[in-house]
Amino acid sequence: MTVTADLAPTADQPGVHVTKTARDFPATGTYACHCGATGRAKGEDNVRDLVAEWIDHRNTCPHR
Ligand SMILES: [Zn+2]
Repeated sequence: MTVTADLAPTADQPGVHVTKTARDFPATGTYACHCGATGRAKGEDNVRDLVAEWIDHRNTCPHR
C-alpha cells in the first residue's frame, strides 16, 4: 500500500481526503467519486458536513 499524504481524491481514486496542517489553520476537505461527483470545503464545520455528504453520496450514488 502506498501512502500519498497530500494527494487529493480523483475519479480514478475515489474517496474523501481531509487536510489539517496546523492548529490555527482551517481544515480543508475534498472528495471525489467514480461517477465524477466532487466536493470541497474549508473550515472544520464545513469539512464535517462534507464528510457527511460523501457518506450520503456513497449510499445514493448511481455508479455503485
Ligand atoms: Zn458517485
